[in-house]
Amino acid sequence: MKTSDHCPHGILYIVPTPIGNLEDITFRAVRVLQEVDLIAAEDTRHTLKLLNHFDIQTPLISYYKEKEAQRGAEIIARLKTGQNVALVSDAGTPAISDPGSVLVGSAHENNIKIVPLPGPSALTTALSAAGFCYTEFLFLGFLPSKKNQRRKSLNAFASSEHPVVLYESPHRISALLEDAFDILGNRQAFWARELTKKFEELQRTDLQTLFVKAASGKNRGESVLVICPGPKEEIKAETVEELIAWYRDNTDLSLKDVSKRISTDLGVSRSQVYQKALTLWSK
Ligand code: SAM
Repeated sequence: MKTSDHCPHGILYIVPTPIGNLEDITFRAVRVLQEVDLIAAEDTRHTLKLLNHFDIQTPLISYYKEKEAQRGAEIIARLKTGQNVALVSDAGTPAISDPGSVLVGSAHENNIKIVPLPGPSALTTALSAAGFCYTEFLFLGFLPSKKNQRRKSLNAFASSEHPVVLYESPHRISALLEDAFDILGNRQAFWARELTKKFEELQRTDLQTLFVKAASGKNRGESVLVICPGPKEEIKAETVEELIAWYRDNTDLSLKDVSKRISTDLGVSRSQVYQKALTLWSK
């Protein structure tokens, strides 16, 4: 692959790879992987299987989370000599809940041209099949693996007005669904398992049903979970005002804490409750 006369540096290509079904790679991705000088891969053994399938002979270098900084420097040095490099992860789009952002950040800092290719990602594949009518969503990737921290994270987005998209591994999906049901209540949810693979399973139901199913099953394969916001009941303005006045007159809670509590209890916007509380607090 030729580099431009104006740019002595090579190009860093960000190349998404299939999340299961090998047919999901793009023509452009195959061409770029064939033409670059080097492929930086999260796990070279894993990527080698993909390369063999498409008869690609390009040399590989490993680029994984624990070595991001060190390997990143080596790859930047290669790019600076004019070599073109493709960054891939084990599956899907690099740098999305995968290593890559350190190298990409460093390429920006070193004025190296970056060319991202569109392609497979578990996030967009799952979301496109969820069928929830929201125009916005919140992508949080993996929640912490420790139970306490995971429950804290779930609490943190309990009052989100947007659906939340989570990644999870087979051995933790059951614990995640249990905590999600416990903390968020029985919300609408979508569980996409083994996307693009032989045993792909899409389930759109509620958190309780999913939790019971996960607790009794083997949950093979990787999962994406989409959780809808809590129900928005029609709350009368007077109800919110009465509650604010009650907390103000009967507790020592601050205006901020009162707004937080009321918004969580009623599933209404915290900033709206806060604005109302501001006007009522000193009356
Ligand atoms: N960078 C990848 C992407 O763009 O989708 C994500 C990598 S992350 C390390 C792996 C997680 O993605 C899995 O634990 C799972 O949550 C999700 N995932 C990957 N492949 C999947 C599949 N075939 N079906 C469902 N979820 C998948």
